[in-house]
Amino acid sequence: MRVVVGGGTGFIGTALTRLLRSRGHQVTHVSRREGEDRISWAELSRSGLPLCDAVVNLAGENVLNPFRRWGDAFCQEIISSRVETTRSLAKAIAAAEQPPRAWVLVTGVGYYRPSPTAEYTEDSPGGDFDFFSRLVSSWEAAALIPGSPTRGVVVRSGVVLGRGGGVISQLLLPFRLGLGGPVGSGLQPFPWIHIQDLCGIVCHALEKESVRGVLNGVSPSSPGTSSGGFARALGAALGRPALLPLPAWAVRAVLGPQRAGMLLEGQRVLPQRTLDTGYQFIFPELPAALRDIVA
Ligand code: NDP
Repeated sequence: MRVVVGGGTGFIGTALTRLLRSRGHQVTHVSRREGEDRISWAELSRSGLPLCDAVVNLAGENVLNPFRRWGDAFCQEIISSRVETTRSLAKAIAAAEQPPRAWVLVTGVGYYRPSPTAEYTEDSPGGDFDFFSRLVSSWEAAALIPGSPTRGVVVRSGVVLGRGGGVISQLLLPFRLGLGGPVGSGLQPFPWIHIQDLCGIVCHALEKESVRGVLNGVSPSSPGTSSGGFARALGAALGRPALLPLPAWAVRAVLGPQRAGMLLEGQRVLPQRTLDTGYQFIFPELPAALRDIVA
């Protein structure tokens, strides 16, 4: 299969590209930077979609970048790096003489309202209550191509755990130094997925012709994981204590109240349709997932 991946140079994209190539697929990235097997977003708009069988979008400015101050300019970048890139790919798919068979977008479980008790499946309502939920709604709306023969799939991902990027790369040093611990109360749900499973679900969505619509990208045991449980499990995987709490006020001071909510609140999310479509998780349980990552 020839697969075009927007934002394929990042944390998830690098792992997905490796997996796709290991399965014999060819990968072309759409990127802001020049390089081998890459086209630019301008080239995509100018010349259209390269001949391909499938398209994935992973582009997006890093929301939790602690070096970026929360403000209008950053918010706009967060939105446009997701919605505009998705719209550009959808337009290119719609205009393609030979449309690809599959189109997969990765968004987030921020679609569902944070709650300590509610459990959400792919059919649960959401997408209309705060900045991030509305962002997911417009992001997913930008992917729609009415009347298109191309099969569309949206993977709503939880926190992606893997080596060399994402949240783990920011936590490893303090946890190795024994300075890790729960964030805020530690009681908030922590929806997580191992990067191999997120890439596995994207591959499953690309390869299995019957898969369409929304799939939740979280581990099946994730509804039972709290943020404090995650901190204890990471400490245990590293053989270090994880007792020093990171107070909510400090998270708010560094990230600003909107982004702090992403760490101080969480959702219990079930991957119901993901399992119903036949995906088998490699890392359904947190301790094994973390041992694999920190080994
Ligand atoms: P990264 O930040 O590692 O990479 C995303 C890629 O997006 C970059 O490699 C970059 O590609 C491109 N990009 C970054 N900023 C912009 C911008 N302003 N305009 C256009 N393109 C940009 O992200 P991840 O791999 O971690 O995540 C991929 C997607 O999955 C994102 O949309 C993210 O929101 C979503 N997601 C991630 C989760 C996680 O835990 N990591 C959880 C839930 C959802 P280049 O430099 O080549 O242009």
